[in-house]
Amino acid sequence: PERKRSFAVEVVRRLREAGHRALWAGGCVRDLLIGLEPSDYDVATDAPPERVMQVFRRTVPVGVSFGVVKVLGPKGAGEVEVATFRSDGAYIDGRRPESVVFSSPEEDASRRDFTINGMFLDPISEEVIDYVGGRRDLEAGLLRAIGDPSARFEEDKLRLIRAVRFASRFGLRIEPETRAALVAMAPKLPVVAAERIAQELRRMLVHPSRAAAMRELMEVGLAAAILPELPPLVGEPSDRSGRDRWEHTLAVLEALPHDPRVPISLAALLLEASRSDPDVVERVADRLRLANVERDRASWLVARHRDLDDPAALPVSRRKRLLAEPGIEDLLVLLRAEAEASGVPAEHVEYCERYLRELPDGPIRPEPLLSGNDLKRLGLPPGPAYKEWLDRAYDAQLEGTIADREQAISWVERLVASGGGAG
Ligand code: ATP
Ligand code: MG
Repeated sequence: PERKRSFAVEVVRRLREAGHRALWAGGCVRDLLIGLEPSDYDVATDAPPERVMQVFRRTVPVGVSFGVVKVLGPKGAGEVEVATFRSDGAYIDGRRPESVVFSSPEEDASRRDFTINGMFLDPISEEVIDYVGGRRDLEAGLLRAIGDPSARFEEDKLRLIRAVRFASRFGLRIEPETRAALVAMAPKLPVVAAERIAQELRRMLVHPSRAAAMRELMEVGLAAAILPELPPLVGEPSDRSGRDRWEHTLAVLEALPHDPRVPISLAALLLEASRSDPDVVERVADRLRLANVERDRASWLVARHRDLDDPAALPVSRRKRLLAEPGIEDLLVLLRAEAEASGVPAEHVEYCERYLRELPDGPIRPEPLLSGNDLKRLGLPPGPAYKEWLDRAYDAQLEGTIADREQAISWVERLVASGGGAG
């Protein structure tokens, strides 16, 4: 982080030496004022992109029409995005400005979304340059749109969900006029590409403030717009705890560890809804175009969590198969969070974990004793039934019912003779 920071100072210094104005801008200024380590540094300058590319040796033009050039630092110093001061023209499709005009720092501040994101900092004199009252709002704990909130949300609807993300992440209240505009405009969020909405949702879900973020999404009406499965939980009594089903969901999110990955937090968000709506994960994943691994992991977690309602009812083979799954540790994380939200005493959770892990002898994932060739040699007609026979033989092996190949073969023979097995 120190090398990143000093490289970001260096970028400003070099632009100054070349005769330009240059300042740190946006998120990094906000983070520094709050006392957080910025994840990256952005520089704003009056140098046009072609000039930026002359001043620095290693650059990548990431959006020259928007005036953005990436400047690559030495090893370990990351990269800095250098953007020319600009004002944005009229917006098309509720997302992107049609044109941009290179301009002054003042105009550059006013095209940004929220006052806390609209400040500049001179890293050499350490002076904050604040045309939009961001500092005052930060001190008052307010998230406020720059300019007319309705107009700002209207021109770029992604800002609707960004408002909730920044407010919850920094524990800010949304200023009343900004909030009123947000509530009025919330039903329009779905005009934004699903991938962008999903990206905002992921960032909220993996952050420690995730419960506050989801509560706010519900209150301003954004949940109804993008996750319509959730509002029906409000006011419906939960049979897991004394709260309603939505408050119970928030309590599960609250109980998750600091930095869970996306599938766990998504499963936590949808766990309660899935009790009355088994396909909720798939539907949400399709709507938000989540990655297949996110969808599959979250839906596995939700389904297997239900199995653990009564762990003692799980046969040894199921327990072994569960323990051999790559998601088992995540499942236990989810189990603990849900148990905490349900007020289940810790001993019960430990019992459940121990029960799952303490198994009769034998490995969790032994080599199967039986193969398709064995079935062929027994004269069984090859076909889809093979998989089921082999599956059942493997379960019997995991249960300890069959201990070697010989036993396995006579076990299948008996199964076939009794007319059992696959039908
Ligand atoms: P984070 O730490 O989440 O990256 P950030 O403030 O750096 O926060 P970015 O999305 O990286 O957010 O954007 C950088 C800056 O660009 C913001 O601080 C804001 O000034 C401006 N900005 C980004 N997206 C928008 C937008 N949709 N509308 C207006 N200004 C925006
Ligand atoms: Mg950023």
